[in-house]
Amino acid sequence: MDFSLSEEEKAIRETARTFIRKEVMPLEHEVLRRERNHQPSLDRSELRELQLKAKKFGFWGLSTPEEYGGMDLPAVMQSLIWTEIGRSFVPFRFGGEADNILFYANEEQKKEFLIPTIEGERISCFAITEPGAGSDAANIKLSARRDGDDWVLNGEKTFITNGNDADFAIVVAVTDREKGARGGGTTAFLVDREMGWRSEFIQTMGEGGPASLIFENVRVPSRNILGEIGQGFELGMQWIGKGRYTIPSHALGIAERALQMAIDYANTRETFGRPIGVNQAIQWMIADSETELEAARWLVLRAAWTVDQGMDPRHSSSMAKLYGAGMVNRVVDRVLQIHGGMGYTRELPVERWYRQVRLYRIFEGTDEMQRLILSRDLLRGYTMIGGHLA
Ligand SMILES: Cc1cc2nc3c(=O)[nH]c(=O)nc-3n(C[C@H](O)[C@H](O)[C@H](O)COP(=O)(O)OP(=O)(O)OC[C@H]3O[C@@H](n4cnc5c(N)ncnc54)[C@H](O)[C@@H]3O)c2cc1C
Repeated sequence: MDFSLSEEEKAIRETARTFIRKEVMPLEHEVLRRERNHQPSLDRSELRELQLKAKKFGFWGLSTPEEYGGMDLPAVMQSLIWTEIGRSFVPFRFGGEADNILFYANEEQKKEFLIPTIEGERISCFAITEPGAGSDAANIKLSARRDGDDWVLNGEKTFITNGNDADFAIVVAVTDREKGARGGGTTAFLVDREMGWRSEFIQTMGEGGPASLIFENVRVPSRNILGEIGQGFELGMQWIGKGRYTIPSHALGIAERALQMAIDYANTRETFGRPIGVNQAIQWMIADSETELEAARWLVLRAAWTVDQGMDPRHSSSMAKLYGAGMVNRVVDRVLQIHGGMGYTRELPVERWYRQVRLYRIFEGTDEMQRLILSRDLLRGYTMIGGHLA
């Protein structure tokens, strides 16, 4: 068994690391200052400027097919890059990307929605969650009623990332109540903000925040249906599926950086005349953190590898998401403890990570939903224990 990365993987990872170190990390001080003053961490033009710089470095559209100017990187390579991004808390991501399901758009829709999103001229958001339907997304109620060649949307979506900034939303709506979500009763619509939906900011414990989207008789033409009528829930599940290995990949980067900070602090901070790192209580926190980090790394890389092999990645991605999200929460908690009072201040990013990573156990499938998927696969015999080694 060979655990080493290929020369190409090492080279791309190194270039990404260099870009993050040279161009992104220098902004960290300013980002913390702004956030302490309740200002946005990075505005739209600053992010775009960074993304264009990254484009010159060769990073544009990590997952975007080459015909759209992207890199179309294998999942393992994307995972390695997301880990590098995670090493800085500046809310940066490489440009040239679009929601995976936007590639189902027809030619007209591609010109209107997909290409401008890839180019960074338009911002999208994806909306399935509702006040009455989160983990049980199949229970959504936002309705789309056909009226001539239009559809009229009524209802509310909630917790929508980018919902405040988005120019358009990909909205999963009920088009046939009788059929239910899994029976083809939902459809995805591309809905411009000008069509009349409005957003309301939701305060959270994290920086930035998602939004509620309110639809009151929002009229959408049939030509704005994404994919087929009845395909909404299926597209929604595909959208969520991608995050199951990118979220824990990002978590690895956060944990690596935070743990290194704790190690440096343990070697320099002195109590009772000696560095705190000489105490076994501190040493064990460091040892446990590295062990869990490595365990998460291999779960994440195997999930990404499974994608690259064209195998069904759902089971391994659920394990990576469940364990990776838990790992980063435990590591950041220990890192905060090692920093003592300093860890609790807003001088350092540690308390920021502590707030940020709590979300990782909730969105794109809670811990409980991942456990439900994993146990169901085993109980029904869809997956054998250790089956991936067969
Ligand atoms: C910051 C943020 C950004 C988000 N971004 C988006 C987005 O862009 N688009 C989007 O559509 N959604 C988004 N979401 C929504 C997110 O996916 C949901 O919050 C998540 O799926 C959980 O749903 P819920 O909050 O309704 O919790 P609920 O489903 O009400 O669950 C509450 C608790 O009960 C547990 N639970 C539920 N059912 C079971 C069960 N059967 N067995 C055991 N435990 C159970 C859950 O795990 C959870 O702990 C976002 C959420 C947040 C907080």
